[in-house]
Amino acid sequence: MDFRLNEDQQMVRDAARQFADDVVAPGAAARDLTSEFPIDGFRAAGEYGFTGVAVPEEYGGAGLGNVELSLILIEVNRACASTGVTLSVHNSLACNAIFLGGNEEQRKRFLPRMAAGELLGAYSLSEAGCGSDAAALVCSAKEDGDDLVLDGTKLWVTSATHADVFIVFVRTSREPKLHHGITCVIVEKGTEGFRVSKKEDKLGIRASSTCEIVFDNCHVPKANVLGEIGRGFPLAMQILDGGRIGIASQAVGIARASIAASVKYAKERHAFGKPIASFQAIRAKLAEMRARTDAAELMTLRAAWLKDEGEPHGTEAACAKLLASQTANFSAREAVQIHGGAGYLEDFPVERYMRDARITEIYEGTTEIQRLVISRAVLA
Ligand SMILES: Cc1cc2nc3c(=O)[nH]c(=O)nc-3n(C[C@H](O)[C@H](O)[C@H](O)COP(=O)(O)OP(=O)(O)OC[C@H]3O[C@@H](n4cnc5c(N)ncnc54)[C@H](O)[C@@H]3O)c2cc1C
Repeated sequence: MDFRLNEDQQMVRDAARQFADDVVAPGAAARDLTSEFPIDGFRAAGEYGFTGVAVPEEYGGAGLGNVELSLILIEVNRACASTGVTLSVHNSLACNAIFLGGNEEQRKRFLPRMAAGELLGAYSLSEAGCGSDAAALVCSAKEDGDDLVLDGTKLWVTSATHADVFIVFVRTSREPKLHHGITCVIVEKGTEGFRVSKKEDKLGIRASSTCEIVFDNCHVPKANVLGEIGRGFPLAMQILDGGRIGIASQAVGIARASIAASVKYAKERHAFGKPIASFQAIRAKLAEMRARTDAAELMTLRAAWLKDEGEPHGTEAACAKLLASQTANFSAREAVQIHGGAGYLEDFPVERYMRDARITEIYEGTTEIQRLVISRAVLA
């Protein structure tokens, strides 16, 4: 067993680190304040090859693996979790959906422009009545000749304000088992009868947009269906296994940022005539943050590696997301504590980390749902 990154992976991580420090970090605090979507960061990521990381080269991607994607997401999220989730959803959910579920024509039509950072992807499964219980979705699509006609509302669509390609899950038939009769379809921005509606005002990842989307007699060609009509739910779950590795990477990035900010502050801040870094209580916090973050990162990279090896990775992805999201929240909270009163102010980044960390325990499967997935495997 070798825990070291190979030379290529080190180069990818170094490039991502440079991109994060030079392009993403400047303006992250300002974007958080104004909720300005990081579209420039997304386009710049395209120039670095970070918008189609695991897309094979024949479809215009970087042809790398999920370990590399995870390394990139850790670095970007260290700088800005809003830019991080934009890249995670685009790579792990949208590009991956088209690669896994798409036929040759669909892959060639969408992936090269998505991988180049020209088209931004979004993924829409949740609705008002169903998040964890995704199979209960009701947004409908009826067959009409060569088209599907979509009617209904979806909620919480990340990046919807700027996305060009939406991976949407709709109900094409009502069957006794709810997860049957769900279809996955690509809806393009500008399609008649489709609009992005209310944008949510959020606690964290405030520069990322989260919106309601509405379909009203919206005709989408059946040529946009990914896989078979009525067979979309297994695809949704398969894609989410990869997505969870992306969110675990986001959580590791936030935890790493929390440690870095805390170390800097603990060395600079003096109390009782000494830097606070000399106090055992502060050192214990830093040690705990470091140990938990290392564990979370190792579990995240293990899940990514298993995915690259073509091995089952659903349980490992759930384990990584569970631990990493808890670690991000723990580390960000401790970072605020180490900063004392300063940690509660906008002047320091740790209050943003604490707000941003919170979502990692909620989207792409809550903490409770990860425990459900893991416990099923434990008991099997
Ligand atoms: C900022 C943001 C961005 C998002 N982006 C997207 C996106 O891009 N695409 C998308 O499709 N969705 C997105 N979502 C939706 C997100 O995935 C859901 O909010 C999440 O899955 C939880 O669903 P819910 O909100 O309906 O909560 P519910 O499912 O109603 O859960 C409420 C509570 O009950 C618990 N619970 C539910 N079922 C069980 C169970 N069986 N056992 C134990 N506990 C249970 C949950 O863990 C939670 O604590 C986003 C949400 C947010 C807030």
